[in-house]
Amino acid sequence: MPEGTSGLGLFLVPRRLDSGALNGIVIRRLKDKLGTRPLPTAEVDFRDALAYQLGSLTDGFRLMMGVIINTSRLGVGVTSSGLMRRAFLDALRYARIRRAFGRQLVEFPAVRQILAEMRALSLGGLAFTLFVAKLEDDLVLGNQRPEDEPLFRMSINVLKYVSSVDAAKAVHHGIEILGGNGTIEDFSVLPRLYRETVVHESWEGPHNTLMAQILRDISRSKMHEAFLEEMGNFLNRVTVPALMVTRDRGLADLEDVKSRVRQVLHGDPELAALHVRGLVFRMARTFQAALLLNQAASDAFEAQAGILHAAARFLLDAGGRLASEPMDDPEYADRLKELTLP
Ligand SMILES: Cc1cc2nc3c(=O)[nH]c(=O)nc-3n(C[C@H](O)[C@H](O)[C@H](O)COP(=O)(O)OP(=O)(O)OC[C@H]3O[C@@H](n4cnc5c(N)ncnc54)[C@H](O)[C@@H]3O)c2cc1C
Repeated sequence: MPEGTSGLGLFLVPRRLDSGALNGIVIRRLKDKLGTRPLPTAEVDFRDALAYQLGSLTDGFRLMMGVIINTSRLGVGVTSSGLMRRAFLDALRYARIRRAFGRQLVEFPAVRQILAEMRALSLGGLAFTLFVAKLEDDLVLGNQRPEDEPLFRMSINVLKYVSSVDAAKAVHHGIEILGGNGTIEDFSVLPRLYRETVVHESWEGPHNTLMAQILRDISRSKMHEAFLEEMGNFLNRVTVPALMVTRDRGLADLEDVKSRVRQVLHGDPELAALHVRGLVFRMARTFQAALLLNQAASDAFEAQAGILHAAARFLLDAGGRLASEPMDDPEYADRLKELTLP
């Protein structure tokens, strides 16, 4: 690195040279990972390797965040949507075949409750991912509106968090539905999918790192405003009579989220870090519900309107006010300290 370069540089290192020879890449060791095993992770040395500089030498971090990290955070949304759908379909098929205590599993209300949550998470995750993918396309193609930059930044971080958490939950639910068979590696794909979800939660920014970034974006640049505005637009576009009660619930949740954001912004910055995750979770659920209601209202989804509406309601139930709202509890932070003493 030349003298004076305090930032990181970004380089493209081809695996092979034009001659076909390997490009000075020495693998010290492959890491034994919990998941994503088909994609090896290794400690690598580059010895006299040919590398092409990408952008300026001090701009590597910004380029990596803008191009690579954002693309792979969207990738987590896409993969998580696939994992959730696969887990739901496998669990539903099993619940229709397997009989216990004289009934098909799917006939038990408690089993239906778990399957319903899996489907709602899967539909909400897919709708949110496709929304962010379309936004990225608009930005790349230059079709964007001024508010799309902050909207994209807020959306991609919220998506990475919520889709990775939901995928872990949905696949875990699938394993539960399969009972003992769910724990058997060669009975279904679910144990492998479960291990993937844990890696997805960690790479490309673990939850707290994302939360710290979101909190900075909210407090320094008010980036949440574009996200909440878009949520309101989606909800207000729904005018189908059968969906209005749910839409109004979404609008009420949106107002509550707005006032909670104000509380976080004007409160103690240390305490803000305690509240941001719950707040982001609610923002995500209401946004997903708004997207699903728009789909339910569209002629293109006529056949699935009932399922989409039910999923939107489920997500609003799951994202609504908690029985105990830490933000309204002045002793919450002290109790956390007490619980984490040595
Ligand atoms: C399989 C795999 C492949 C990977 N591949 C690549 C790759 O190709 N290229 C690459 O650059 N990276 C790669 N990573 C690295 C990955 O992005 C990091 O592991 C991840 O971002 C977490 O960083 P860390 O491991 O340094 O954890 P740390 O930063 O040490 O975090 C540890 C814990 O502390 C929390 N924490 C950290 N900071 C804060 C804070 N400010 N406030 C509150 N909590 C905080 C985190 O949320 C986390 O729970 C890969 C990781 C994995 C698992």
